[in-house]
Amino acid sequence: MKESDIDPRFYNSETRKPFESCLVCSTLLQESGNDYFVERIFRRVPNLGVTEAIFEYGMCMQCAEQMRKELSEESREKVEGYFEQRLAERSHAASEPSMEVCLLTGTPIGDSIEFSYHGHCRGDRMIHSIFPYAVSDVAMEEISALLSDETIDQLDDFKGKYFTGPPEYADLLNPKRLIPL
Ligand SMILES: [Zn+2]
Repeated sequence: MKESDIDPRFYNSETRKPFESCLVCSTLLQESGNDYFVERIFRRVPNLGVTEAIFEYGMCMQCAEQMRKELSEESREKVEGYFEQRLAERSHAASEPSMEVCLLTGTPIGDSIEFSYHGHCRGDRMIHSIFPYAVSDVAMEEISALLSDETIDQLDDFKGKYFTGPPEYADLLNPKRLIPL
């Protein structure tokens, strides 16, 4: 499998370095050499011409799998079905995944007010498969509509437990965005 150094777009915006520890269990990601995921959720403020990361984290594979397992089966199946359908529709698109367009809709990420980056890393390396990819606000909205009330409550709890950023960002962060993708 193709791998590379970790793309700076997947760095922690505070340290400007790769994420050091798992959000949930605090295991050291670089030192462990194990697989983990990085997710960063951004918001663009067009008037100011800035893009801010409103929530970002590294999560070890065990914690990511645990989080998936805890979600309601109904929501999980719907989201997986949505992914499969969208990817099948887009299979004619350029085979190299690109961070510049939404993986699911093919629209330019530059057109999104909100978007997210998803990466798969191992220690200090980045793994290239369907990862890394970007998801637009249009796809996020479509995914949000598939979630059960139970799942939304779970994601709200997750936000309450792990979001430690400034309160103004907490207000901006829709818990539905935290569905693991
Ligand atoms: Zn963990």
